[in-house]
Parts: sequence; C-alpha cells; structure tokens
Amino acid sequence: MRLGCIADDLTGATDVALMLQNAGMRTIQTIGVPAGLAPEDADAVVVALKSRTTAAAEAVAQSLAALQWLRQHGAEQILFKYCSTFDSTDAGNIGPVADALLDAMGAPFTVACPAFPTNKRTVYLGHLFVGEQLLSDSPMKDHPLTPMRDANLARVLGRQTKHKVGLVALPTVRQGAAALREAFAKLKDSGHAYAIVDAVADEDLLALGAACGDLPLLTGGSGIAMGLPANFGIRKGSDAAIAAVGGYAAVLSGSCSAQSNAQVAHWVKARPAFRIDPLQLADGADLAAAALAWAGPLLAAGPVLVYATAEPDAVRKTQARLGAQRAGELVEQCLARIARGLIERGVRRLVVAGGETSGAVVNALGVRALRIGPQIDPGVPWTVSTSEPRLALALKSGNFGAVDFFDKALGMQT
Ligand code: ADP
Repeated sequence: MRLGCIADDLTGATDVALMLQNAGMRTIQTIGVPAGLAPEDADAVVVALKSRTTAAAEAVAQSLAALQWLRQHGAEQILFKYCSTFDSTDAGNIGPVADALLDAMGAPFTVACPAFPTNKRTVYLGHLFVGEQLLSDSPMKDHPLTPMRDANLARVLGRQTKHKVGLVALPTVRQGAAALREAFAKLKDSGHAYAIVDAVADEDLLALGAACGDLPLLTGGSGIAMGLPANFGIRKGSDAAIAAVGGYAAVLSGSCSAQSNAQVAHWVKARPAFRIDPLQLADGADLAAAALAWAGPLLAAGPVLVYATAEPDAVRKTQARLGAQRAGELVEQCLARIARGLIERGVRRLVVAGGETSGAVVNALGVRALRIGPQIDPGVPWTVSTSEPRLALALKSGNFGAVDFFDKALGMQT
C-alpha cells in the first residue's frame, strides 16, 4: 500500500476510492477499521468510517484506529477525506480529527482543500462555493445535522482546531507546485498548522497534489486525491475492470434527496417497484417479508426496486409522528433485512441509494471490503465485495447520479 485514506462516511469513501482508481491506483475500500482483515493487494486503501456526525471524541478515536491500521500495513502518506461541502459543526469533526492525526503522526503542517470542481464545489480566496452560490447561501445552510452558515473556510476550520489556519490563494496555486511549496514553508514558519488552498479547476488540484508529495498528512474532499497517484510514479492506466458477477439484480433506495426522488420516479414509470411506508412499519407491518414475497417471482424477469424514498412533505409528516431518528432506523432495518433476503434469493448485483442506507445494507450483508470498479456517474463506481458470496454493489450518496442512474448502473457489465 502506498496511500492510506481515512474517510468520514461510507459513500464519501467510495467517491475518493473512485478518484484514486481513475488516477491509476488499484484501490480497496474497507467498511470500518478492518480488524484482523489481511490487506489486499492494492496501491491505496480507503477506510470508510461513520465519523462525520458522531461526537468529536468518538470520531477522533475511530480515525486514530484507522491511522494505526493503515500505517501498520505500509501506508506512506495519509489522506483524511471529508465532504466537499466541508460538512461539520463548530464542535467538529474535521478540526479535532485533523489535529489528532497531525499529533499522532508528529506532523507540524497540512493542507485543507474540499474543492471538487467536477461536482461544482470550488474554493476561491478561502471561500467555498457550491455552483454559483457561497456555501452559506446554498441548500447546505439548512442541512439537518451540519448546517453550513459560513463560507469562509479559515474561519470555519479555525473554530474547530487549536492551531492557526492560513490561506494559499489562487494566484499562488496558478504558479504551480514550487510556488505552493514555498507558500506552505512560509505558513509553517509563521506557526500555521493548516493552509486552506484555493482550487477552482482540476489543474489547481493537480498542482496541489504535486506540491504535497512530502506532506505525511493531507486533508480534503475527493478532488484532492486526483493529483496524488503521480507522486508515487503511478499514471492513469486503462479503466478499472472487475470480473463479472452473475445473478439477479435489484435496487434499494432509502435516500430522500431530490435526486433520489427523481431517480425513483423515473424507474417506477416503467419497472416493478415496491414502496416501504415507515408509518406502516411503526404499526408493526412486516413489509420486509411482503417485499420479498413480491420480489421473489419477479427477479428472474429483471431487476426490481424497493424504496422508502419520499418527497419532503411526506418525510416531514412521518418524522412528526415518529421522530426523524426512529423513522430512519425503521426504514434502514427494513431495507437491510430485504437486502439479506434478496441475496438469499439469488441477487448478486445490488444498487443502493443513500449514504446511511448503504451503511445499513453493507453491515447487514457482512461486507467488510470492496474492490473499486468502473465509474457509473461522477463519484459512484461499481464495487465488488472481496469476500464470498461475491456481490457487485453500487453505493450512491443521495445527491449523486443522473436521473436514469439505476438503469444506467444495471445496464453496465459487472
Ligand atoms: P442521503 O444519502 O440522501 O442522505 P441516507 O440514506 O444517508 O440518504 O439518509 C436518508 C435517511 O432517511 C435514512 O435514515 C432513511 O432510513 C430515512 N428515510 C428513508 N425514507 C424515509 C421516509 N419515507 N420517511 C422518513 N425517513 C426516511
């Protein structure tokens, strides 16, 4: 292993794993810290944690455990990967985790760059933009767990860390890797532990990657990974291929994002679908058994969708009665049981929509590591479990993927 990556959520981990794979690194993703798991033959290993919104102390503990495993298995450089919208609160977890990683590695300095221009996340003069809006004007201002109300990243990170945060602005980035290294040295000499680095295009991320070859620790979104493989002498090869996985196919959607709603609506127009209503679950209905009884005879004819995805109004009504947490848990448990039942009925290719939902499903299936395969849409690859039974899994974070994502994924050879 050359590069070790610690990602603060599951679908974010898949996103950075795809970026590394596309840049030529053979990449494995593990679900949690892989206690006892022998490292597969890979250039990069991405440890997917669930540490974005836990208490900071828990996020730090998980991240340090991941660091220890990665270094034990040979990682020469560590990337701490968080969301391209810098999802965090004043209590953490980006600052506390990055501080702890710096301390543990005995490193005095690192960079912080969430930019991902392909997905319209850019950083200019230290301010994070989502499309044409400042982060603080974007829908992220209303995120239920990590509302982002300040777009100035030096200020946001400054509230989370005990260290000084500086800025390397775009004009310096555009001068290339040598100028960036000089700027890092100046910031470090003046007592800064972090540099927010501007990036508005892929060329900026490539320059940043080239300037970071000697830093033990980097922090950023998946974009920052694009320039790293070249530091290890790895060049982009042919597209990733994974050995074909036969068997039936199905889609499970527990995401209620606007994009997942559009994808589900697109599917139900022409394909078989079964809806899970959390209110019925709360009343004791065994919808997992019902969904499996419905799906069983259909699978031989083609893929089926089981979804809890609902529009914001319906979600609000459900949450008003059950509470957001209970509603989420009921749906996740139900979809996880359905996933297990589908595998028992011969499904081997599974598309899952939703970050938390994907976490619940891979846990229920006992999947501990994934090899990264070809890209379906930006940020979402096909993956294959490294253990038996071999499962092809496409884990999609809520807002990713085109409207025909499910068809597109299942139409690909896996
Ligand atoms: P995303 O990636 O879009 O954030 P997640 O799976 O991470 O998707 O989160 C969606 C959450 O909403 C999950 O906890 C899921 O169980 C829950 N959920 C799904 N459908 C409903 C629904 N109809 N009403 C309330 N909550 C729901």
